[in-house]
Amino acid sequence: MPTVQASVVTPDGTVYEGDVDMVVVRTVEGELGILPNHIPLVSPLAIGAARMKKGSSEDSIAVSGGFVEVRPDKVTILAEAAERPSDIDVDRAQQAKDRAEQRVNAKNHDGINTARARAALDRAINRLNVAGK
Ligand code: ATP
Repeated sequence: MPTVQASVVTPDGTVYEGDVDMVVVRTVEGELGILPNHIPLVSPLAIGAARMKKGSSEDSIAVSGGFVEVRPDKVTILAEAAERPSDIDVDRAQQAKDRAEQRVNAKNHDGINTARARAALDRAINRLNVAGK
């Protein structure tokens, strides 16, 4: 069965590399499943999990936006930030979630950038989901 070379790269370094059967990413337009020999494309990513499927196993990676570049033999995720489940600090994500929720739900929005708080909330929820919490 053909495989595709998948990698997840952040400004801090490479978070994942492997040959997989399928990559599933969350683009700004929705979920995209990428099989080997997919047509080339570049798409912006939403905050979400990237799923690397090989046989019956699946690795999830928390991706906080960026781009996916697809070539027939290679899928590269260029992420603003990305973590594997074992690298996620659950307490930190929970604190970020609480902080962001307070900002999003504040009665007085003076001095609060609500879009930024929502994005922080999405990142925190995504990390907790990928960590299985
Ligand atoms: P925080 O408010 O906790 O900093 P954030 O969503 O603002 O969260 P980012 O700006 O997305 O953080 O990421 C900054 C760096 O910190 C990245 O390298 C990212 O991988 C890392 N990071 C952020 N949150 C966590 C976490 N809960 N566990 C592990 N690494 C994290």
